[in-house]
Amino acid sequence: MGVAVNLRCAACGHEQGPILMFGGYVVSCEPMSCSSCRRIVSIEKPLSARGTGARACPDCGGAELLPWGDDGRGASATPCPACGSEAETTFAGHWD
Ligand SMILES: [Zn+2]
Ligand SMILES: [Zn+2]
Repeated sequence: MGVAVNLRCAACGHEQGPILMFGGYVVSCEPMSCSSCRRIVSIEKPLSARGTGARACPDCGGAELLPWGDDGRGASATPCPACGSEAETTFAGHWD
């Protein structure tokens, strides 16, 4: 089951959500920070296709995507995609 969060940045006012994270039953969503349109985008990938492939932002087609959210080392890094300040995330629900 995946988790959806809303993002809110106190520094610049950027708000976005819901952002889909983690796995559903068929696809896994990986949140990435797009440096072109300065938004968080969720890249869907089939659970069967692990690993990194070619990725592009579904919104603007930009290729400069940085991993966002849990970095896999226990740290919760949720920088605002617009200004880079640490943004607040709030739980928005589950998806599957
Ligand atoms: Zn911001
Ligand atoms: Zn983009």
